[in-house]
Order: sequence, then C-alpha cells, then structure tokens
Amino acid sequence: MLREDAGRFMLRKYLSDKKIPWQRRRRLGIAVTVNTPTASFLTKMGKMQSAGCWLCKIAREARGESTDGLADETHGHINSAGCEGMATTVTAASHSIWRHLYDSIHAAQKPKSKLRFVTLDKESNMSTLWRRKEFLRICSKEELTEKAPDIEVTIPVKKSQETRYNLDPGSFFVNRFWGRQPDGVTINEPLKIVYILEFKRSTDRDEGFLEVKDAEANEQHKSIIGALKAAAPEWEFEHIKFLWWVTADRWLRATCTPSSKSLIYKKVKKTSFSPIM
Ligand SMILES: [Zn+2]
Repeated sequence: MLREDAGRFMLRKYLSDKKIPWQRRRRLGIAVTVNTPTASFLTKMGKMQSAGCWLCKIAREARGESTDGLADETHGHINSAGCEGMATTVTAASHSIWRHLYDSIHAAQKPKSKLRFVTLDKESNMSTLWRRKEFLRICSKEELTEKAPDIEVTIPVKKSQETRYNLDPGSFFVNRFWGRQPDGVTINEPLKIVYILEFKRSTDRDEGFLEVKDAEANEQHKSIIGALKAAAPEWEFEHIKFLWWVTADRWLRATCTPSSKSLIYKKVKKTSFSPIM
C-alpha cells in the first residue's frame, strides 16, 4: 500500500473516479479491506462453521478424492490458481490479460520500428519457434541442442519432472529446453536483438513477492537466454518481465531493465490502458 505509484494514491484515485462503475469500485473496496464474504471471513464472524474452500471441495468430490485438509477460502485463495475450483478460470484470465498487454504493446509500435512480434497468434515453445526461418537465421537447431544442456543441468529437476528424468536422463535436459515456452518473443533482425517476454501474476499480500516472482521468471528463462547467448554470440538477448499483482492494487506495472523500460513500458503507458478491471 505504500509503494510509489501503486498503493494508496492509485487506490484513492480509482475509488473516487465516478466514471468507473460503482460495482467495480465496491469490489475493490471490499478486497482492500479484507471484507470479501468468503468462508474464512464468515467463520470469523461466527456465521459459518468451517473456513474450508467449497470450490476446492466440489472439485475434489468430482474427482473422487478426499476433502480433508481444504485450504481456507480467502479472497486471495479464490482468486488464485491454487484454488482447485478456480484454477482453469484464473489461468484463462491471466492469459487474457497477457494477450491484452501484448496486443497493446504491438499496437503502440511506431510505423518505422523494425521490432517483429512473432508470437501473436499463439504461444509457441522453443521447438516450434525454431522451425521458423527468422529464428533459424539466428542459429541452427543443432547449435542450440549442443549448448542448451550445459545450462539445463544447472537448473534443478522438479518433482513433477522426476519420472521423465528417470526414464531417460540423457535426453531429459535437451527435451526440457525445447519444451520451454516463452510468453512472447519479439525480434529486431536489423539490430540483431531478441526480447524474450515473460508475464507473471501474483498476490502482493506477502512482503518480498516481487523478488519471489522475479526469481521464478529468471529461472524459467535462464536456460533460453543462456543457450541463445552461447549459440549466437553476435546477437543480443534480453529478458523482459512483466508482473501483474492483485489484492490491494490491481494495477499493471512492468518490472524490467532500464533499457527495456524505455523501449516497452513507455509504449504501454501511451496506450492508456492503465488499470485492468
Ligand atoms: Zn479453493
């Protein structure tokens, strides 16, 4: 709430803006004051017996699983992919916001800009990207296959990946690299610069959430950027991260390096799409 340009000032401005429908302002007001009538809130008020999330309960019952140990139904929980009943909707909303942002950046592009948005139609993984001629002009698939494992072995094997790793440890790291999926890629062929775009959504309730999401985004693309730099040293590769956070302030801010900030964030601001509600 005390963050510059993101906390109280923006909140007051939004809540007092008569042009914004009352229901939306009211919804935000309830969220900020942690008064959403969730099971957690109602249990504290003595109106319900259990704070367990009923959306998670329904999802588990549909799968025939135990409903023991349900997460508390809080405002943050039902707005996160951590809620088993809301995961699909929340993920779809997150993708939708990213497409809106991506399209807005594209729309703000100056006519003489040589930046090409190559993943506008659908998200592509590294393998499908490297079938396109503009990427093959950066380096060959063989060169990347040679360099990628050196970086991939430094990234831990997640629990969900252990089965695949144990089946074939030899090819696991190469396959994991080619399966990586950037949220967006833009390319400037004349200047030989590739921007790998990453979009993250988070709650801002916990202190240090920016650092946590930043670290996640960095690890996700450590492999892509590292392998590309090794395979095509004459090109520049930049990782641009966008972080959208919820709870107190539903505003989008871009956290990126100074150069990319001037390149992209200013364009975003120009498109006048400040709050997404
Ligand atoms: Zn839930």
